[in-house]
Amino acid sequence: MTEKKNEFEKKVSDVIHQPLHCLDLHTIQINIGFLCNQTCEHCHVDASPKRTEQMSWKTMQTILSITEKLLPIFIDITGGAPELHPHLEQFLRNLIKQHHQVQLRTNLTILLESKYKYFPELYKELGIELVASFPCYLEEELRLQRGKGVFEKSIKLLQLLNKIGYGTSPELPLTLVFNPLEPVLPPEQKTLENDYRKYLSEHYKIQFTRLITLTNMPIGRFINVLKDKKPQYMTLLKQSFNPQTLSSLMCRHQINIGWDGTIYDCDFNLAAGLPVTTKVSRRIEQFDHSMLSTRKIATADHCFGCTAGHGSSCGGALV
Ligand code: SF4
Ligand code: SF4
Repeated sequence: MTEKKNEFEKKVSDVIHQPLHCLDLHTIQINIGFLCNQTCEHCHVDASPKRTEQMSWKTMQTILSITEKLLPIFIDITGGAPELHPHLEQFLRNLIKQHHQVQLRTNLTILLESKYKYFPELYKELGIELVASFPCYLEEELRLQRGKGVFEKSIKLLQLLNKIGYGTSPELPLTLVFNPLEPVLPPEQKTLENDYRKYLSEHYKIQFTRLITLTNMPIGRFINVLKDKKPQYMTLLKQSFNPQTLSSLMCRHQINIGWDGTIYDCDFNLAAGLPVTTKVSRRIEQFDHSMLSTRKIATADHCFGCTAGHGSSCGGALV
């Protein structure tokens, strides 16, 4: 029996004449939990101080037993605020011992809290690459998106990270992340990066390695921001479909492991409760690298967020 295609799948097969499959698996993204000290408006995983989901040490150990057998791979740690996980340090030390390249997504503000102040030096010691949310260099706009006081704290932290070498020395990359406040597509990445660089350097003497732009996905808490504008936003995403983004879609080069050990194609599918297709195992206990490397990707309407305009992924624009 032929499977019924959703709208995104139809659009994709009009271009590539086959379903979307993984092309090569060079990244494992690991979401270690939804607990966060912030409650940002656009958060696709709906993270907040009230969330209790966190990866157990047992699940982390299972992941380590998988990564131990892999050649060095790119590992991308996300959350929530990863620093709130009690076993983060132990997990990172083991991944580095296995010679993987490790990147971690930090919201910056958590690093000012006394209990978590040691993390920047730990990251430096282990050579962890940092990706920091900083969706606007203008104070007022950032306050609207991320809450009161977040701008000042983020500036302080970026200066501190610069001081210890992040964003100022090539071996300690510091990537900043932009996403729009309004339901619109992000501006062109390189142009915006130049604006960020000029403004942050002139006003705060802050340096960073690169800026990445992300499209807000029509899932998680951003749905509340959209309210009755959701149909217009979906129309914008669909009308902006760019076929050139298809080969670089992040799901074609990575998998995502959720806090409970379920395997997803990406963090957005995790947020939407859409695990990898039933043709491959959905649990890390049966992790099969070669099957996952060629798997068919599970898609839904929110995927139009990745193919709109210049494209979007956890690594920024795609074209
Ligand atoms: S966007 Fe990041 S910092 Fe904001 S609530 Fe979500 S996980 Fe936390
Ligand atoms: S939302 Fe995930 S599965 Fe869908 S296109 Fe984007 S990366 Fe791929």
